Amino acid sequence: MDFISEAFEGLGHLFYIVNPFQTSFRTTDEVPHYVSRASTWFFALIVIERIILRKKGKSPPINDGITSMACGLFMEINNIALRGATTAAYVYIYEYYHIYELPWDSLWTWVACALGMDLGYYWAHRATHEVNLFWSQHQVHHSSEEYNLTTALRQGVWQGYSTMFYYLPMAFFIPPSQFFVHSQFNLLFQFWIHTEVIDDLGPLEWILNTPSHHRVHHGSTRYCVDKNYAGVLIIWDRMFGTFEAERRDEPLVYGLIDQVDSFNPFYLEFFYLRKVFQKMQSMSGLTNKLKAIFYGPGWVPGSPKLGHYDQLPETIVREKFSHPLTPHDQIYAAIHFLLLSEGYRLLATHYEEFDDWLLYACCAYIIVSLVSIGLMFNRNPWFPWVEMVRCLVFLGYQLHFKLFAAETIGINLVMNGVRLFYLYSALQCKIECVHQFREKTQKEKMK
Ligand SMILES: [Zn+2]
Ligand SMILES: [Zn+2]
Repeated sequence: MDFISEAFEGLGHLFYIVNPFQTSFRTTDEVPHYVSRASTWFFALIVIERIILRKKGKSPPINDGITSMACGLFMEINNIALRGATTAAYVYIYEYYHIYELPWDSLWTWVACALGMDLGYYWAHRATHEVNLFWSQHQVHHSSEEYNLTTALRQGVWQGYSTMFYYLPMAFFIPPSQFFVHSQFNLLFQFWIHTEVIDDLGPLEWILNTPSHHRVHHGSTRYCVDKNYAGVLIIWDRMFGTFEAERRDEPLVYGLIDQVDSFNPFYLEFFYLRKVFQKMQSMSGLTNKLKAIFYGPGWVPGSPKLGHYDQLPETIVREKFSHPLTPHDQIYAAIHFLLLSEGYRLLATHYEEFDDWLLYACCAYIIVSLVSIGLMFNRNPWFPWVEMVRCLVFLGYQLHFKLFAAETIGINLVMNGVRLFYLYSALQCKIECVHQFREKTQKEKMK
């Protein structure tokens, strides 16, 4: 009987670990969250990179950059509203099953953790490219046709659930404090390598994952596919046979092989999951259906596990999806994105003051708002309708509170400026909606 009750207790623990809607344990204040804290530095570096690129005669489109940052914000929202599954699982294994306790303050533990973390990252990253279901989350990171610092922030929201298992063996030896710090360091390192501004780093190219190596990883022509999975050290790729140096004579084409034409972060997160399901449905027999889910994205019946590499395109010539934006639309999208980022920052720092339902409602509001900006970039006819409603919801929520409730005159002024901008946005969209409606009725009359 003891065994049965222990088994039930174990199941309870397992549910606690995998249940994403458990809000009693929010990661933001339980572990050092350097990535969130570094956002100001990220933003400053993104601005500096843009200035350098502009001087070189290149200017990456703002719609792509904002979409990448929107995906990053989406992922951060996931961190505040939902629990960090890796964190909970790691602590659980360490507490109940650790085999040997390495001292947390030893230099050797630090080195072992850094290497273990990076090796875990290599295999986790490789799995996201070699298992179709996991690729459905990682493809988000590869979906940009540009390659700059904002691309680093374009991440799949659910990716952590599929990659967490590669880090958990460390929990048998290494204390959680070391693991948390190194997991953040590993992520932070990968920010600066997403750039075309840095060319070649000489001897460092032998050991470190550099911008040059990672550019290859983001390429979609044949020689780039499934290469350079490294996080910090490129030695893993050299050891396991997945290394490929950048070829100066072959221009890199960034993005997916079948490029997705959308700037809607929600669509980018989930469209490929539908593709996996459709591929599975199109297969006959259970074995093929399972292979459609767990073999590589390029697998087809009769091919090797990862597909036929020799059939991949050696060169790709395609138009980028990006629609040009008017200066008004660029400023409009940038201001709304900055306001949403600031809204998220306030939510993340004051979340303890919110009821769960209000926290979820605010998170949902930010996500809908990010989608709305994406619809604008996509020139989707639903944009003015969604945008008008979300601006009115914001204004309605503001009216619910006293308009001059803030403690200082300065904050009152800023808040009223924000309200005016939302009012202007709602009115602009209302005009567009009326215009759309008139056009539609005129077309119907013509019929
Ligand atoms: Zn990748
Ligand atoms: Zn990358």
